[in-house]
Amino acid sequence: MLTKIERILKFDNRRNFKIITPCCGKRNTDGKFVNYKGYSYNFGYCHSCGKATTPPAFYKDEKGQEYQWNEITNSWDTDVVTSPTPSFSENFSSASNNPDQRFIPESLIWKYYKVTPENNLLQYLRKNYPEQDVDRVKEEYALGSTKDKGVVFWLINEDLQVQKNKICYYFENGKRTNRFKAPYKNEDGYYACLFGAHLLGSIKRGEDLVILVESEKTAVVGAILLPQYTWISYGGLNGLTNDKINCLEGHRALLVPDISEQAVSVAYSKLPLLRQIGVNAKIWDMTNDRTDSELKKERVYNNDLEDYFRKVH
Ligand SMILES: [Zn+2]
Repeated sequence: MLTKIERILKFDNRRNFKIITPCCGKRNTDGKFVNYKGYSYNFGYCHSCGKATTPPAFYKDEKGQEYQWNEITNSWDTDVVTSPTPSFSENFSSASNNPDQRFIPESLIWKYYKVTPENNLLQYLRKNYPEQDVDRVKEEYALGSTKDKGVVFWLINEDLQVQKNKICYYFENGKRTNRFKAPYKNEDGYYACLFGAHLLGSIKRGEDLVILVESEKTAVVGAILLPQYTWISYGGLNGLTNDKINCLEGHRALLVPDISEQAVSVAYSKLPLLRQIGVNAKIWDMTNDRTDSELKKERVYNNDLEDYFRKVH
């Protein structure tokens, strides 16, 4: 039998100016978000938007074990979080190029991270690659799962702020369906950055190689197969835009477009832009000058790097 734990919420006199507010996603530099004493920084009252973000109700059983209801997993959690949790976003400078960029609280990432059963993409990867490698890339990219088995790709910038996410659906064989969701919209201040940009901060600029690929899945598989490189996805043919590539300044990068004439020509068209901002960029053209019809005949048209690796291994 669970009984509800009565609690008293008191405001903390000290403001945390470094957090991103959970309600309106703003930096708390003006201190308008006031925390509740003794609870995580995600809970408090916001004088900016007028919303109270209260901690979930806690319950306890006869033995004194505490529980809290997890709305995402629809189950009771025993790892009740009441104390301030460390956060990516506590140390920030301005990474975003959009002045009205809002950020998603990091705590959300770790909720989706724990959802079971895992999404179809992770399940597929676990069937085909070593467990510890899949665990590693799951953590590196903070891959989340939704209840309907979608994979949550978080777009985290090089200052570790969460700018947006994208929920994609894969079949059990690892192939992508046409279905996807983008719950955080540009018009609400959530703009995309490169997927994997948050990994750039821990490598040597100009020395370590960054590999740029089209799809998030290719980046994740690349990070499993060749972990010595930093794998970043630009999310489709037209994803290498000015506002997203700034984080690559000074880096050494290899672009690996999917195998089609169009993908390769778009990649080449991006080279001047990349070089302009000081990226030492090269292209790995897997078409080897074959035309699309030749590629189709050889059944490699539109293949990505994972298909390529499967064929050479
Ligand atoms: Zn607010």
